[in-house]
Amino acid sequence: MSIDKTPVTVVGLGLMGRALAGTFLRAGHPTTVWNRTAARADELVAEGARLAGSPAEAVAASPLVIVCVSDYAAVRELLEPLGDILGARVLVNLTSGTSEGARQTAEWVTRQGGSYLDGAIMAVPPAIGTAEAVLLYSGPRATFDRHEPTLRLLGAGTAYLGADHGLSSLHDVALLGAMWSVLNSFLQGVALVGTAGVDATAFAAFAGPLIGTVRDWLPDLAQQIDKRDYTARDATIGTHLGAMEHLVHESESLGVDAGLPRLLRAMADRAVADGHADSDYAALIEQFRRPGRVDR
Ligand code: NAP
Repeated sequence: MSIDKTPVTVVGLGLMGRALAGTFLRAGHPTTVWNRTAARADELVAEGARLAGSPAEAVAASPLVIVCVSDYAAVRELLEPLGDILGARVLVNLTSGTSEGARQTAEWVTRQGGSYLDGAIMAVPPAIGTAEAVLLYSGPRATFDRHEPTLRLLGAGTAYLGADHGLSSLHDVALLGAMWSVLNSFLQGVALVGTAGVDATAFAAFAGPLIGTVRDWLPDLAQQIDKRDYTARDATIGTHLGAMEHLVHESESLGVDAGLPRLLRAMADRAVADGHADSDYAALIEQFRRPGRVDR
């Protein structure tokens, strides 16, 4: 059986770039690397990576070029001076950014004659190359298909989202938003129970299972949203709002920050004002779909 060992270049050897390059290297791909601070390549070079002397040399070395630097401005700063050297190459940008930045970068790479995939890494560097790592890609399907076996080395949770280059960054920010919301809600709870001398570890024993239960609600909630069926199944938004008032009151009277509780209450208040007091929680999506003034 022939095994594809496409030569790969990795530009950017921060914490993440080093994990990406190391994974390709250990899988037997000829790997060329470049980093602004060359010393960060030392360990990879010791493992067999080839250190390019310039970004141009690095890009020219492989048909598949991965870029992972701090932000899109750095990507453009690095690549724009290269001109049409990207032609006939596939650029995979795993730098975090916005959908607008991804679409603009795609236009620029396409003008240079190159092919572009935008990617988002939903994992930390130690998870790269494992079953846990989720990496999301968007751009031309044929380009993704051609390099999927190589890209899949970075994480078993590799997924193609669609031709619109903005999709991976859009999912990235949306998923990180969900992550921060869960973490901040947990911290809010820790602050509240902490006023009664309960420590975070004790609270986590209850919060963890609850978060798991809420996760299990998502498929049904998503179906209700997609069908715009807001018939209450268990508790109405009016009932939730009553409990949110308790959360705001406890936070204010116990002297912990009430900003997040007030935000939750404000969204539910708006839903009720829109006539959704008796609707299912799914109806709150209407409040998220439009901008509105939120009192904190
Ligand atoms: P990092 O350790 O801070 O590394 C940043 C990299 O960008 C370094 O290689 C740095 O070069 C390079 N760089 C920055 N500005 C540059 C410029 N103007 N020209 C050339 N190179 C430049 O960050 P990281 O953790 O590797 O993250 C890289 C990207 O992956 C970010 O977009 C991040 O959001 C994303 N990401 C990271 C994680 C994570 O857990 N670390 C998870 C998901 C996504 P020098 O070494 O010369 O400074």
